[in-house]
Amino acid sequence: MAGIYIHIPFCRSRCAYCDFFSTTREADIARYVDALCREIESRTSELPSPRIRTIYIGGGTPSLLPPKLLHDVLDTVYANYAVEADAEVTMEMNPDDVGEGGMADKVNRVSLGIQTFQDDILRTIRRRHDSATAIRAVKALQAAGFENISIDLIYGLPGQAMEQWDRDLVTAFSLGIQHLSAYALSYEPGTPLTRQRDAGHIHEAPEEMSVAMYERLCHYAHEAGFEHYEISNFALPHRRSRHNSSYWTGEPYLGFGPGAHSYDGDRIRRANRPNLDAYIAYWLSPSHQNTTTRPMSHDIVTTEHLTPSDLIDEAIMCGLRTAAGIDLPAFGRRFGQPCLDTLLRAAAPHIVAHRLLLLPENAKPHTHLRIAEPSWMVADDIMSDLMTS
Ligand code: SF4
Repeated sequence: MAGIYIHIPFCRSRCAYCDFFSTTREADIARYVDALCREIESRTSELPSPRIRTIYIGGGTPSLLPPKLLHDVLDTVYANYAVEADAEVTMEMNPDDVGEGGMADKVNRVSLGIQTFQDDILRTIRRRHDSATAIRAVKALQAAGFENISIDLIYGLPGQAMEQWDRDLVTAFSLGIQHLSAYALSYEPGTPLTRQRDAGHIHEAPEEMSVAMYERLCHYAHEAGFEHYEISNFALPHRRSRHNSSYWTGEPYLGFGPGAHSYDGDRIRRANRPNLDAYIAYWLSPSHQNTTTRPMSHDIVTTEHLTPSDLIDEAIMCGLRTAAGIDLPAFGRRFGQPCLDTLLRAAAPHIVAHRLLLLPENAKPHTHLRIAEPSWMVADDIMSDLMTS
């Protein structure tokens, strides 16, 4: 089984904190979709299994795609891959695009980028929507029959008080959503928000504040009956993101579009270069019309061959991100007993300090190693102690 990620690198305007690969050149959308469909058709032989369990249309802003072009993209996927009848098909949307035109009937999950319900902060971070629009968007999706809605929130935003974060969480969980992804604001190099911080116009939230906000997030999510299944992700039972979960369990996936990544489920990762013009020129050049299985040029893709130590580190990182943790017997079978012993030796001080848990607790043999929920905020430090490089 495998997944497909489709990148739509267009945004109507750029949010102040964002460093994702996207452009505001909407005039290029139609040509881009042509190129994207060529790529989708041409890479069918790269997956070990043709069966597709999840499709994720992300961006950028996929909801900027006119309905006809969205249909073209999905029709191309369905015509060229064996998509399971009950596949999870997610599309990211901006709240102010909901209700603008139709959605493909194949989309059965929506991820809405809301970020906060505080209008003054939405303006600071240059989101296009306001709080009322975000709430209307969720209700419109529900009225349209969507039963699998995720929203994104950010905490540690400039000027965000704890009381405002509390209000965001109360509002979010009152909306009848099934899934929440919540991230601490990260000041990425080169973004307008980072420049404003460096110029002293806004201030980064102190670490204790971010930790306290994360604790509030966990608290409200538990109260609302959501499972905390990954560091930043919460879901009602049976509503976890199947697509994102497959990244953490090492399943193969194909990523289409500039900036998209692919993984063969074994040792090879590919990254499409984040260059829209080069991407369109490559896939629309006459030599790529009606061809399949042609190897991609190094001009638009880079390939990484993972070493044994890369694979061990990935297994540690991905396992520790999730509530399930690292499956120890499976880790031992894959990498050998000496490697498992090394992992457990490195984990010992964290186990003593209760940052890491061996499960099931008070029983042997332990089958899983996972980070205790209160320590997920310092997961990076714990992981780097356990990794080989
Ligand atoms: S809409 Fe999303 S991808 Fe586009 S600039 Fe804003 S955060 Fe970035």
